[in-house]
Amino acid sequence: MAASIRLLSRRIVRDAFRTINSSVSVRIVSSSCPSNLSACRCFSDGAADKSTHFGFETVSEGEKAERVYKVFESVAQKYDVMNDAMSLGVHRLWKDMLLHVMNPQPGIRLLDVAGGTGDISFRFLNYVRSQQERVARRTARANQTPSWQEISTSYTTPTEGIEMETEARESRAVVCDINKEMLKVGKQKAESMGVSSGLSWVVGDAEELPFDDDQFDVYTIAFGIRNVTHIDLALQEAVRVLKPGGRFMCLEFSKVTNPLLARLYDAYSFQMIPVLGEVIAGDWKSYQYLVESIRKFPDQETFKQMIEDAGLFSVRYHNLTGGVVALHSGFKL
Ligand code: SAM
Repeated sequence: MAASIRLLSRRIVRDAFRTINSSVSVRIVSSSCPSNLSACRCFSDGAADKSTHFGFETVSEGEKAERVYKVFESVAQKYDVMNDAMSLGVHRLWKDMLLHVMNPQPGIRLLDVAGGTGDISFRFLNYVRSQQERVARRTARANQTPSWQEISTSYTTPTEGIEMETEARESRAVVCDINKEMLKVGKQKAESMGVSSGLSWVVGDAEELPFDDDQFDVYTIAFGIRNVTHIDLALQEAVRVLKPGGRFMCLEFSKVTNPLLARLYDAYSFQMIPVLGEVIAGDWKSYQYLVESIRKFPDQETFKQMIEDAGLFSVRYHNLTGGVVALHSGFKL
């Protein structure tokens, strides 16, 4: 309730600000506006007036949000297969690297924005679980040769301490995505993997997150932020929902640093990826957009500056696979 009131007031302030700033304010209700863009920036804020890019095309902001929605609605069923095919499985290593750098400890609350089919959250829960198992094994080893007094104590209060500690330090992951279809595929995946505890699925826009302030220890966004219309607003929202001391982490395609690798990568992505999209998912255009959107995304240093401008500290990045992907991170003080 508090979150929705806050959301509404933020939207009113933002709308007022934009109306003041735009000389022409036209309110257009798009009949094809997807129902889940309930925040519906398509008609609520003069978005139809301002232009942005959708891949290499110039479109209105409203149209971009709508077309991005349609891309992911269309690719949702084949999304995971295509990820493996396009990256030859390397996206798994990039995501593993994100978890390795995060090194989450039991009890952490993760918000995975633009979380799609849940890859980051599944890895997070697995990582934390294996940490807990490691601790439990270590404790068991230490208790292998207990004294008679310890044995008698353990008969009176069997494993109580361990259970209480595990319960109190339960980790949670929230997958938040604007696209219902992507979440639906993710939920099916969770069911087939038998993962349910500690995981929730929320429809929400990175630019107007449906959460209260200071809620999460870690905010992740993997291969999602380049699809967002106002990256600055998404970053501000990340800062708002993080707890003080919380960490922002973003995995995104970036600028390849080696010129030879850059040429090979360009040739591969422009000539192969749309073809794979057509063959595997029957969808050339969506994959052409994905390739073009990568080229429109700011380079490592520019994005680092944007994160700092949003108010995060100690911002740094690692290039992965020669800059094909960059992992940016920063902290909320
Ligand atoms: N994070 C997942 C992964 O790494 O596999 C999915 C990444 S997928 C390339 C991009 C996701 O961003 C899609 O699921 C799409 O629906 C989501 N998305 C695009 N715009 C968004 C927005 N404004 N708010 C939240 N999610 C958005």
